[in-house]
Parts: sequence; C-alpha cells; structure tokens
Amino acid sequence: MKPFFYDRAADTDQALGYARQPEARFLAGGTNLIDLLKNGAEQTSRLIDLNHTGLNAITVTADGGLSLGALARNSDTANHELVRQRYPLLAQALLSGASAQLRNMATNGGNLLQRTRCPYFTDPAFAMCNKRVPGSGCAALEGFNRMHAILGASEACIATHPSDMCVALAALDAVVAVRGQQGERRIPLGEFHRLPGTQPQLDTVLTQGELITAILLPPSPFADHSHYLKVRDRASSAFALVAVAAGLALREGVVERATVALGGVAPKPWRVLGAESGLIGQRPGTPAFDRQAAGVADALLAGARGFRGNAFKLPLAHRSILRALQLAGQGTGGGA
Ligand code: SF4
Repeated sequence: MKPFFYDRAADTDQALGYARQPEARFLAGGTNLIDLLKNGAEQTSRLIDLNHTGLNAITVTADGGLSLGALARNSDTANHELVRQRYPLLAQALLSGASAQLRNMATNGGNLLQRTRCPYFTDPAFAMCNKRVPGSGCAALEGFNRMHAILGASEACIATHPSDMCVALAALDAVVAVRGQQGERRIPLGEFHRLPGTQPQLDTVLTQGELITAILLPPSPFADHSHYLKVRDRASSAFALVAVAAGLALREGVVERATVALGGVAPKPWRVLGAESGLIGQRPGTPAFDRQAAGVADALLAGARGFRGNAFKLPLAHRSILRALQLAGQGTGGGA
C-alpha cells in the first residue's frame, strides 16, 4: 500500500478544507475503499475520515419524505422504523446486499460511491482495464463477462454498478445532497452515476472534493405494493445477476402509478422514465396486467446487448421484471 496522510474531520467544514488537496479521498465505512487501497487498485495521498462529522441522522423532511444521513450505516437505515414503514422497497434492497457484518460498517454515501466488482478492475495484476488505467483496454470484452452489463456499456467498459441500495433509490426518485467548495447542490439519483462512454474512470458526476451529505427521499406512494427481486448465484453475499426494484400505487385495486428500476445489468441503476406507463389502469393479477408488464420489460431492455458470457441476462431480466411486478401487485413489499 502506498503511504498516505490521514486526517480525522470533526465536521463537514473541516472535511471540505482537507479535501482541497488534489488527491484527497473521503473515508466512511471503508468496506470497499480500504480493500482497493490495500491491493493498489486505488491510490491516494490523503485520506479524510468522515466518521466524526455527525452526518448520520435519519430525519423526516418538510415535504414528508426522509433524509438519510450520508454516514448512517446501511443496517441502521434498513432497520429504521420509518424506512421499513414508508420505504420497504429500500429496506428490502439494503438487506439483500452484502453480509450483516458489511452492512454494519457500510454507509449510505459510501454505498453510492462503491466501485465495480469487475475482477479486472479490482485486481491490478491484470494490465488491461480502462476504468483503473485509462487507455489500457478492456479485458472483460473478450474475457470473463458473466457479471457484466447488457445496457449502457461502451467499447471502453462493460462493468456493472454493484449496489442494491441504488436500484431502490432510483425507483423511489431519490435525490443526492452534496457539498463542495462551490456550495451545495442536489443531484437526482438517476443523474448521479455516469455511463462509461470514453471515460469509464469517472463513475459519478461529483467533482473533486465534493461530499455527499444526505440522500433525500420524497414521500412514496409505493409502500403497500413494492418488491425488490434479486437474482444471484447464491443466497447471500453475492452481487446481482439481475435485480428489479418495482413499486405500484393502487387505488381500488387499479394501478395509478408504477416504478421499475434494474440492477446488475448496467453501469448505473437502470431506469427508463415512462416505461411503466402501460401499467396505469391495469389490475394486478390479470392477464392484461401481465401483458403490460411484459411491455414494461421490453421498454426497459430496449437496445440491450449480451456478450459471450452474459447473454443469458436478457431473458432473465425480462422474466425478472415480470415477476417483480407480479409480486409487487400482491403486496409483498413489507417482507424485508
Ligand atoms: Fe475495466 Fe470496465 Fe473493462 Fe472491467 S469492464 S476490465 S472495469 S474497463
């Protein structure tokens, strides 16, 4: 590991002051960054510890939504009474991620910023990885790509974003609150992560030194009918092959609003605004609902492209979207 300076910030002002150093990185739970620093996949000259900044509150906002502190642990968020009552989709997604030990350490802000688990990225023994070494090539294109993207990829990178939490946040129209040297701004979750294009080394739209302070959830109409479906190789501690966050708002048994986001299939949580519109006016549990749900899957997967090792994800994603919407219609979302 390359030597670095360590600073413990007492508050966000001090953290932002330390972050003026060009290579400075923020440390929260450390469940991803420390591993990458140890094996050399990431480097820094200065690590700024945020764990004493007090950004861990979960509070009700003026509009009746929730503010999730960036430093709140994933387990505390998933088990918070208001999250379980109002956003069971988020609780279910969080509890499907990682292991209990990791969720006890990992933070909400860190969850958004975790790096891909593409093995060519996480292991510097591999020379070709445009995300780790820009311009070096992409070993996954012709190599092991079973876990990789079928949507939103580029010739430079076909990695997926590994988060479950972010898939639920995308479905719930969350907003990311950040602070930097230029002040504060709010970024819709759907615009927070970047597609790789020709610069796969950039995962998000954050600029150097910008700090996530909170994740804001608007009031949700999906609490009674939502489901997070995660398909993976084993029942725990595994990343998604395909994940679906689905929510339905029903009035007298008929869909009034719907939301669907995908994970495990793209470099960012995948949402196609308007893809769910065919479900409006449908009654879950009917053949017509299922036909419209298949149409939602077609819209979400438009333009999808499989590679040698992951073409199976196309039919798997299609079936998973349909199943998640059926389960949401049954009102199974509270089962986190
Ligand atoms: Fe690197 Fe992306 Fe290619 Fe993986 S998919 S080897 S992260 S460039």
